[in-house]
Amino acid sequence: MAYGRGFYQNGIIEDANIIFKGESVMKELYLDVDGVILDFEGSFVDFIREEYITDLPLDYSLQTWEMTEEFKSLDIEEVWERFVNSDRFTRLELLVDSDSFNKLSTKFPIYFITNIPLAQFSSREQNLKYHNLNYKELHLAGHFNFGEEDYPSKADVIKKLHNPGTDIIFLDDHPKNCMEIKRELPESKVYLMNRPHNLKASDPSWVRVENWNDFLEQIVS
Ligand SMILES: [Mg+2]
Repeated sequence: MAYGRGFYQNGIIEDANIIFKGESVMKELYLDVDGVILDFEGSFVDFIREEYITDLPLDYSLQTWEMTEEFKSLDIEEVWERFVNSDRFTRLELLVDSDSFNKLSTKFPIYFITNIPLAQFSSREQNLKYHNLNYKELHLAGHFNFGEEDYPSKADVIKKLHNPGTDIIFLDDHPKNCMEIKRELPESKVYLMNRPHNLKASDPSWVRVENWNDFLEQIVS
């Protein structure tokens, strides 16, 4: 089946609403933010092009998770600090369509679990508000702890929020987070969002989705 623009043109979102009406299984959604909801990478690469590497191609896409590997000539810690403290970090662009997102949020509770430092929590909130996304709660957690020993994993957060009897739907673009959820909460349904830097990762425990529309189709049918 083809996804992408045709998904909306064909009105499948409307069909999805009909499916929602007959929904008997309750679900709760735990969604990653960077690389799933907001385009962190695109904005970060733009920042590097404008401030540091002016000949970086316009269609440049990150090939690895490790920025120090990707941009060996830069002091990535300094770049990161400047980037996350810039206004740009509160204006990351959407990777999802806000209408379908907000429709989904009227049917199921949506929890964002984002892997950023505590110092950037309010910037992240501002960014989500800027796009008028309706969600239940925003939490910080993930496999990268920014040197903070008590920084929680995504499974830690989900275990606290989970309502027994409800299906856990988890979406992330980092294989480590997906593997952790499947290991710690094996009953959950885990989706990995395709990104250039995770295409080589393979694991039978997740379902790969191409984009937001693909994910929607998977969870409403
Ligand atoms: Mg991510």
